[in-house]
Amino acid sequence: MKWRIGDVTVTKVVEMEVTGGSRFILPQATYEEILPIKWLHPHFADERGRLKMSIHALVIEAPGGGKNGQRIVVDTCLGNDKQGRRIPNWNNLQLPFLADLEAAGFPRDSIDTVLCTHLHVDHVGWNTMLVEGKWVPTFPKARYLMGRVEFAHWREAHERPDMAAVFADSVKPVYDAGLVDLVETDHRITNEISLIPTIGHTPGHVSVVIESKGETAIITGDMMHHPCQVGHPEWSPSFDSDKEAARVTRKAMLKDWADKPILIIGTHFAAPTAGHIKRDGESFRFAV
Ligand SMILES: [Zn+2]
Repeated sequence: MKWRIGDVTVTKVVEMEVTGGSRFILPQATYEEILPIKWLHPHFADERGRLKMSIHALVIEAPGGGKNGQRIVVDTCLGNDKQGRRIPNWNNLQLPFLADLEAAGFPRDSIDTVLCTHLHVDHVGWNTMLVEGKWVPTFPKARYLMGRVEFAHWREAHERPDMAAVFADSVKPVYDAGLVDLVETDHRITNEISLIPTIGHTPGHVSVVIESKGETAIITGDMMHHPCQVGHPEWSPSFDSDKEAARVTRKAMLKDWADKPILIIGTHFAAPTAGHIKRDGESFRFAV
C-alpha cells in the first residue's frame, strides 16, 4: 500500500493485523458503542463490532540524500525474538517483516533514517535484531531519531517491568552503538518532512507532517490508535500516560485537520489506513 504526497512516497509494510482482542487498548470501544458507528464498517470494525487494527511500519521516500533519495522508516513495530513482553503473543515472534520490507524495495542497509514517534514496545522492536545472542542495530547505516524528552522519560521511568525490557533490547543497543540522534518535538528532518508534538499518549510523543508541492499528509503515531477515536476523541486508551492531555491533543488536532485536504495516515489503522477527517455534527468521522 503506497501513497504519493507531491514528490514524497509513503509505503506501508505490515508486521501484523488483528481483529478483536483490543479491549485492553480501548476499553470504551464496546461492541454496543462500535456497531452504531456505520462508517467504521467494513474496514475498521467487523459485523460483530470487533475492532480491526494493524501494526505496520511506514517508509517515507523523500528527495535528497543518496541515489535513492532519503529513506525514512517511521516506527519499527514489535520485532522478532523479543522476550518479556506483557502481551504473551508478542514474545518470540518469528515474522517475515524484514523480507517483506526488502520485497517492498527497502533492504535494511538502504535505510537512512529511523524515526520512533515514541518508545513503546510496538514502535521500536525492529530497531534491533538478534545476531548470535546479541541485539544489534537492524539498520546499520541509519541515524535513529528519538525525542529528547521521550528518551529521557523511558531511560529514567519504567512504569512496568516489560518496558524496562523494551528499553534494554530495542533502544539501548542503538544508543550504545552511537546511532541515536535525540531531537526536539518540532524537529525538521528534510525540506518535506517535519515533526509536530502530539503529547499525551507518552510525554514526548510526535506525529509526522509531510508537505510537498502543495499536498499534505500526517502520520498519526499513537495520538490515535483506531478511527473510532475520530468519532470519540474523548476515548483515551489504557496506555495513554496522560489521558487528559491525550484527549486535548486529539480534539485540537482533529479540529485542525477537519475538512481540509490533509491525508491522515494511521499508524495502527487497518487497511486502507489513510483517509480524511470530516466534521460530523458535534464530532468527526474518518472518510476513506
Ligand atoms: Zn502503538
